Parts: sequence; C-alpha cells; structure tokens
Amino acid sequence: MGGRGSGRQFWLRRKTTVERCWCISIADFTKIIKEGVSGNINWKNEHKEVDESSISFVLLPETDSEAMLILSYTINDSDVDEPILFQKTYPHFGGVRWWFTCPVCKNRVGRLYLPIKSNLFACRKCHNLTYRSSQNSKKYNMLYAMIADSAGTTAEMVKKILDSSVIK
Ligand SMILES: [Zn+2]
Repeated sequence: MGGRGSGRQFWLRRKTTVERCWCISIADFTKIIKEGVSGNINWKNEHKEVDESSISFVLLPETDSEAMLILSYTINDSDVDEPILFQKTYPHFGGVRWWFTCPVCKNRVGRLYLPIKSNLFACRKCHNLTYRSSQNSKKYNMLYAMIADSAGTTAEMVKKILDSSVIK
C-alpha cells in the first residue's frame, strides 16, 4: 500500500481462550494513534510462520475528538474495508485511555475479534464468543443434574457444593 506508510508490522494474535479467531488489541495501536500511519497486520499460524493473508490498515491521525482505523482484508472471498472508530476516556489517575468502538454495538472495547466464519471484526459479545471455561461449565450441567437426581436435590445445589469444594 502506498502513502506515508511506515511499513509497520503487527502480529494478529490468535487467542486460545476465545477459540479459533483472530484478534486485534488496542495496545498495539495506542502508541501510534497520533501519528497517522499505515502498515500490515500479519496472520501468524501456530508454527509462528507468516500466513499469506494479511490485513493492511490505515490509521488516520487523531483529531480533536476521534481517530479512526481502516482495516482492509480479504476473507471468505470478499474484500472488506472495515472502518473502526477509536474512543478515548480520561482515567482519574490522568492520561488518556484509548478504546476501539465495536462496529456492531458501538461499545468501547479493548479487543476486536474476527472468527473464522465471519467477515467482520467485532467485539466478543457481538460475535457471541464464549470462553472455553464457560463452555466447560455447560458441559457439566448434565452431570450436575444426574447427581442431583440421585441425591434428591437440585442441580444448582450440587453445583454450589462442588464449586465451593473444588480446588481453585
Ligand atoms: Zn460489539
């Protein structure tokens, strides 16, 4: 891509907690938000090799009220240009804290995710992503129900007892 790009490279993180999707983090952008740069986010696979696909981005410099990031990528055979607005807040201890604005729900978020079957980056809630641990807890609901049944109590009670006795 042309322009005044610095050829910056970013690594897209593959999250293991939010499974099988790509993630961009605000932490990668906060230092350069004032500059207005362009570059590439490379997709790295498990073997730490660079995948062929990459996301190019243009970071429009901060104005009085906002800054914007435009992500360009090809996924599932579609070319996507996805604008992402930044928001800032002023923490009580001083300074500025930057956030992505989720393109779907407009909430302030620190990370945006692109699940494999999706065409857009959005927050975890909008993509309905669950953490592995909460999926596991669902898996045990059946077990709780079975124990509750034979013990003559409720599944909630079994869960409560187990949760309080399990080594954390
Ligand atoms: Zn959202």
